Amino acid sequence: MNGKCNCGSVSFEISGALPALYHCYCTLCQKQGGGASNAATIVYLENFQWISGERKIEKWQKDTGFSSHFCIDCGSPVPNEFRSKYVWIPFGLMEGVSPVVRANLWLNSKPGWAAPIALERNYDSAPDNIAEFVEYLNAIEHV
Ligand SMILES: [Zn+2]
Ligand SMILES: [Zn+2]
Repeated sequence: MNGKCNCGSVSFEISGALPALYHCYCTLCQKQGGGASNAATIVYLENFQWISGERKIEKWQKDTGFSSHFCIDCGSPVPNEFRSKYVWIPFGLMEGVSPVVRANLWLNSKPGWAAPIALERNYDSAPDNIAEFVEYLNAIEHV
């Protein structure tokens, strides 16, 4: 399954089973995406491949570790690798797939104007155990 930014400069491919996605309501994601939350997922590095445009990516890194990677031509957020084994995927870039939506993150900072949505998991802030959370997102049950 493939994804790309608005202008198409940056494109990538995800292999393996389609992961579930989550909405993150942290204040950083609000400003990064311009909305109440980011719709995203996290995949294992070995299931991720750039197709084009790696040189078109600019990065902004906050002292706390949050980093925002974006296409320098169109400004779309683009995937970024973290902890040397995961890749964060802004899900709006994906094309032609319909994932299961499993979790809300950072409900403590959800703005009052955001539509209420209760999901299978609802975290007040970030999950304590990222490894477990990534496993959960990628544990697709085939029926
Ligand atoms: Zn672009
Ligand atoms: Zn966030």
